[in-house]
Amino acid sequence: MRFDTKLIHAAQPPDPLTGAVNPPIYLSSTFAQSAPNKHKGYVYGRSANPTRTVLENALAALESGAVGLAFSSGLGALTTLLEQFPSGSRIVAGNDLYGGTWRLFEHHRRQFGIVVDYVDLARGANLEAELAKGPAALVYFETPTNPLMRLADIADLSMRAHRSGALVAVDNTFASPALQRPLELGADIVLHSSTKYLGGHSDIIGGALVVKAPELGERMRWLQNAVGAVPSPFDVFLVLRGIHTLGVRMRAHGEGARAVAEVLEKSPKVSAVHYPGLVRHPQHALARRQMEGFGGMLSAELTGGLPAARRFLKALEIFTLAESLGGVESLIDHPATMTHASVPKAQREAGGVTDGLLRFSCGIEDPADLADAVRSALKGV
Ligand SMILES: *Cc1c(COP(=O)(O)O)cnc(C)c1O
Repeated sequence: MRFDTKLIHAAQPPDPLTGAVNPPIYLSSTFAQSAPNKHKGYVYGRSANPTRTVLENALAALESGAVGLAFSSGLGALTTLLEQFPSGSRIVAGNDLYGGTWRLFEHHRRQFGIVVDYVDLARGANLEAELAKGPAALVYFETPTNPLMRLADIADLSMRAHRSGALVAVDNTFASPALQRPLELGADIVLHSSTKYLGGHSDIIGGALVVKAPELGERMRWLQNAVGAVPSPFDVFLVLRGIHTLGVRMRAHGEGARAVAEVLEKSPKVSAVHYPGLVRHPQHALARRQMEGFGGMLSAELTGGLPAARRFLKALEIFTLAESLGGVESLIDHPATMTHASVPKAQREAGGVTDGLLRFSCGIEDPADLADAVRSALKGV
């Protein structure tokens, strides 16, 4: 089965009881037993729910893993993943991370003695050097990163990490399995904020883990139940519904982002455009190699800094100023004061998240309208 067909059919047979083509939303917190501990595989809604099972099996199939697990948020998924590592464990993480991921890592450092070292993983040799300083339990990164759209070479980093015995987890939220499948490239664990492209309609908060190896997957399933950050059956249904259109949506998001990137690239008021689909992106070749499209996210730096960013945001039509991304509607974010405000200013700026940086989540509106909106807002800067 090809990927777009898998989105609709993989691990999603019609309901065996009724033939319904969509799984029923099982709003039941508990399940009857015919005798103590004799049941049909479902006992209590935190441990497992039949609607959730359909989503979890579909996620495993789409990301080519053995076990898929759904969570109540992306950070719920990350919290559960981190429960795997005892205090004193070392994590080597990419240095360009979702702000909430960084905040949670830092919390685990202070609270539980987890050692976290942040490295620029755009160069594989940097990981090698970091791992030479001492062993790590986990190598964790996003690609493309948020908000600077830097890439990490999943196959190369996985190989280097595995040589030193570390597990590799990739946050695949920005690309989605429609464009990139880290487990096929050598990673061990994929994390999603399904709030974003998997859900796709800005109407739920959700997360997911997909694990390649069955044993580690079962360990994570145990933690999913032990920690308890599970989604509601209704939210699960909405993610499943979103997944069905992921392929067509990702292509439309990509067309919108390309149109916007081309307008930004031509403007003298813009000093940098970060979009892996541009030939000028320093890792365009890697993007072509490990992705099947470049996605709907991009960021750009205005030469005029904060005042220019403020004027641009005020003039911009169609794009809604809001956190989050990956929905059918276009959103714009000012990372320095919004999504990345919890990262200290010096660290933020050293990483390239300056006051003039804007992050675009291009929706699936007509690309020409998105391009027009950006073009006319630039006139006001
Ligand atoms: C949003 C996001 C998260 C966190 O997910 P929530 O669903 O908000 O908890 C993690 N990583 C990335 C890349 C994100 O965009």
